[in-house]
Amino acid sequence: MWALKQVDPEIYEAIKGEMEREATKLELIASENFVSKAVLETAGCVMTNKYAEGYPKKRYYGGCEFVDIGEELARQRAKALFGCEHVNVQPHSGSQANMGVYFAVLKPGDTIFGLNLSHGGHLTHGHPINFSGKFFNVIQYVVDKKTEVIDFDELRKLAREHKPKMIIAGASAYPRIMEYEPFREICDEVGAYLVADIAHIAGLIIAGLHPSPVPVADFVTTTTHKTLRGPRGGMIMCKKKYAKELDREVMPGIQGGPLMHIIAAKAVALKQAMEPDFKEYQKQIVANAKAMAAALMEGGLELVSGGTDTHLILVKLFNKNLTGKVVEETLDKAGITVNKNTVPFDPQKPFITSGIRLGTPALTTRGMKEPEMRQIANWIVEIIDNIENEAIWERVRGEVGDLCKRFPLYEGLMD
Ligand SMILES: *Cc1c(COP(=O)(O)O)cnc(C)c1O
Repeated sequence: MWALKQVDPEIYEAIKGEMEREATKLELIASENFVSKAVLETAGCVMTNKYAEGYPKKRYYGGCEFVDIGEELARQRAKALFGCEHVNVQPHSGSQANMGVYFAVLKPGDTIFGLNLSHGGHLTHGHPINFSGKFFNVIQYVVDKKTEVIDFDELRKLAREHKPKMIIAGASAYPRIMEYEPFREICDEVGAYLVADIAHIAGLIIAGLHPSPVPVADFVTTTTHKTLRGPRGGMIMCKKKYAKELDREVMPGIQGGPLMHIIAAKAVALKQAMEPDFKEYQKQIVANAKAMAAALMEGGLELVSGGTDTHLILVKLFNKNLTGKVVEETLDKAGITVNKNTVPFDPQKPFITSGIRLGTPALTTRGMKEPEMRQIANWIVEIIDNIENEAIWERVRGEVGDLCKRFPLYEGLMD
């Protein structure tokens, strides 16, 4: 990065700081991951220079023959991996993927259903402060108070009553398998579109560790940067019959020029997801989450739904009388990065919360396995049980540093 160092030392130093942070702390944010060097190179390539409004071979600009290769390969690989009939790889983010779908088939004021935010849903599933809550009439479904898994009886009742045009099945903080058949049945009964948002679990689905919604959903949206381990971006899959409407809505409906460097990087990540070791990687993500969940529970912590089937764990802090905010801040001092998160029926506001969310994709990318997960869980328990004990955070910070050194990340990248 010689040019950058000369031109803008402040940004150069900030990037270096970020790289050191990633390498020397434990990244447990469930939505994050570390891309491969191949993806990183592609995301920083000259394709960022190119305008390519339109779709491969049907562009509004000349000179698209090489960026077309990237988009075509991304499309072919996504189709092969997910078995979908059509895919649009242009959404700049997961949020824009959802916007593309909603605007393609809904009208302002239509009724949509999404999972309540504090029960695991995402802002774009109808939160009042998000575009989805402003444009549409939103009804939120919930998890069962006792089991903390989706309450399909309640969902069916709500659907019969409100007759939604669309039901969104997806979550950002839901540790259990999402079953798509009951959603499909309810959608068929009331004539609603089924949209599955697999942003968090796309990698698990590719590896066959979570059911795929592709056969039953009208639309499937995803991000490419969570368990999928690609560049920051979004993607939409759908049945062939919606292909035209969808593509028209993404461009020119809600986006202009696609990010061709990022689309090429999506193609690279999708190629890596086709290799046999990707499946092993995803299996390890889940094994790691289960090992961590077991150790946290042994240490006296309560988990939403009593465990996990996926890459993600939600800790409830009610029995410790602590907020997610305090725990997030304290763990950070010990070099353990997590995010505070609301939990079902949480009395606290989203900036405070009564829970923390943990995920294993990023640590698994570094090569960590069950023994490291148990060690990290023990540190988390120790810190939560001694929240004001500075000596403990400091000792753990040192031990975290030693552990990180054994699992190097992006070595030599900025030399
Ligand atoms: C992360 C996420 C998104 C949004 O992705 P962005 O790229 O941050 O816009 C959408 N839906 C779900 C379920 C997510 O977890």
